[in-house]
Amino acid sequence: MSRRERLLAPTYRHFYEQPLMIERAEGVWMYDRDGRRYLDAYNNVPILGHCHPEVVRAICEQSRVLNTHTRYITEEPVRLAEELLATLPQQLDSAVFTCTGSESNDLAVQVSRAVTGGTGFIITDCAYHGATDVLAGLSPEEGNPLGAGVYAVHPPLRSADAERFTADVARCIERMRDDGVRIAALLVDTIFSSDGVAAEPRGFLQDAVRQVRAAGGLFIADEVQPGFGRLGETMWGFARHDVLPDLVTMGKPMGNGYPVAALVGRRGLLESFARTRQYFNTYGGNNVACAAARAVLRVIRDEGLMLNAQRTGHYLMARLRTLAGRCAAIQDVRGAGLFVGVEFGGNAERAWGATEQVRRIVNVLRGRGVLVGATGRGGAVLKIRPPLTFGREHADLLVEELERAIGAG
Ligand code: PMP
Repeated sequence: MSRRERLLAPTYRHFYEQPLMIERAEGVWMYDRDGRRYLDAYNNVPILGHCHPEVVRAICEQSRVLNTHTRYITEEPVRLAEELLATLPQQLDSAVFTCTGSESNDLAVQVSRAVTGGTGFIITDCAYHGATDVLAGLSPEEGNPLGAGVYAVHPPLRSADAERFTADVARCIERMRDDGVRIAALLVDTIFSSDGVAAEPRGFLQDAVRQVRAAGGLFIADEVQPGFGRLGETMWGFARHDVLPDLVTMGKPMGNGYPVAALVGRRGLLESFARTRQYFNTYGGNNVACAAARAVLRVIRDEGLMLNAQRTGHYLMARLRTLAGRCAAIQDVRGAGLFVGVEFGGNAERAWGATEQVRRIVNVLRGRGVLVGATGRGGAVLKIRPPLTFGREHADLLVEELERAIGAG
């Protein structure tokens, strides 16, 4: 820790009051240097489980043969595009490869500005879309001020809020008009992870998207968190809402830990962008990254991980709801597949607000060998997002330890 603090810039943070030093990981388990294991119910990057052998093999094999960029014609990016686009609606027929979700969102912002001629964006009020300068203005979760032309709406965390959400989007569009701002796009994470997870009712995005399109804007689905089958029934979060995005951004789990990300969109839009703009990303779409991403798609299919996410997710949410029935601190359990949020209300007896309560629970769980995180405004929602290989035995362990941690505060 002292070496890290001395050598790495003070921009870095760790998760826990007692920072965790991890040495290796396999499947749903992470191991510290004393060999103690931790159940990983937090990390959505290793979607197939940590160090999945198929991905490791694909990376090693491709590294031996060729690793170069997209200025040459090589097989891997084209094969990845074929396989990735096959998981998306046919209208979304062109891919651009990048290295991070931030780069994908930054490019989506550039494309939507260029093709609409607008500069206005609607986002949610605790959104996170990435680390670039432009995205900082679209990421109020980090405490950043909204950028010029950026308008925020509160997502419908509870089902009953769906109509209010649609009305808020309509009001935003009116405000933009009054302010003389032309709309470029609605940009949302389709599971609203940093807002605290909003999953129901399915379809609540449809009216918002319709209004944005009518005003001349695009719909950008940020699938960095919900994508790649985590939600169980659908490969992509927007599909749960039965809406068709103009642009889709993805990253995080795409390479199971290897940096690979993408922007996918309608060819017409990208053609229009490419008339005046090029996009080159040195490592985006490199052969090894593509091999890793192809292995991820293959394993999701071959190991039936979406079905497992659906079944284990169902089981986990049912157990969490039963726990909520006997635990007044839990206000709500929501999510889809293996993306679950548990909202807390605070502990009046101990005079803890929800933020403090969740912070303590996360740290107690860490001490007991279970890793989860906090999300939502003020961190009042426990975020559960394990690898999709999570089984019932892991869900049982998580819920039992959570019950103990709630008791312990
Ligand atoms: N969009 C969402 C919804 C995210 O959660 C993140 C990362 N937390 C990003 C974009 C940015 O991705 P990256 O960190 O790979 O740049």
